[in-house]
Amino acid sequence: MPSKTIFKRIIDKEIPAKILYEDELCLAFADLNPQAPTHLLVIPKKEVKSIADLENDDLALAGHLFLVCRNLASKLGLGNGYRIVTNIGADGGQSVEHLHLHLLGGRSMAWPPG
Ligand code: 5GP
Repeated sequence: MPSKTIFKRIIDKEIPAKILYEDELCLAFADLNPQAPTHLLVIPKKEVKSIADLENDDLALAGHLFLVCRNLASKLGLGNGYRIVTNIGADGGQSVEHLHLHLLGGRSMAWPPG
């Protein structure tokens, strides 16, 4: 059996995280190494490696993650704008192999990303 990712261990409450939102499909918690005044990770409870591993049946789940980001951004007062990022694989800069949306806000973002 492959070992659990750090995010699966957060879902299973084996390690602590600052959880801001949870429902039956997903979890949102503060990033340990924040890159902006607000930096949350929104992850599905289902074990999916990345966007590249989503199945067609995950359509509603994928949409749900975006709506949770929208709701959190609104709740956290990010009315001036924010960024949602998801890294995919080695070239995408993904370091944890469990799909996650970074929700970044509270400062002006640069473009292009590095
Ligand atoms: P990636 O590089 O895969 O797109 O993003 C992984 C993110 O997970 C990074 O921003 C990193 O700071 C965050 N992270 C890694 N380990 C932990 C952890 O144990 N707890 C929390 N809250 N965030 C983590």
